[in-house]
Amino acid sequence: MGIRYILLGVALWLLITIIRRFIWQRRQERMEKQSRSVTNMVSCKLCGMHLPQNEAVSQGGSYYCCKEHARQSKSEEEE
Ligand SMILES: [Zn+2]
Repeated sequence: MGIRYILLGVALWLLITIIRRFIWQRRQERMEKQSRSVTNMVSCKLCGMHLPQNEAVSQGGSYYCCKEHARQSKSEEEE
């Protein structure tokens, strides 16, 4: 009878440990994503708008807010 309670306790402890680890991992991932997006802010070379690097269009070592601005800048350099 006592073994049942011990097993139940162990199972419960394992469950809590797994859930805690899962929540902690999710939180770590979210924090990493946030810090990454904060540190990697770039500004559009054409209009100066600030945006995250992963959303920016990179071309020739410069960043642009959209493909349209990247294209415009390129055509200006060529002319
Ligand atoms: Zn722009």
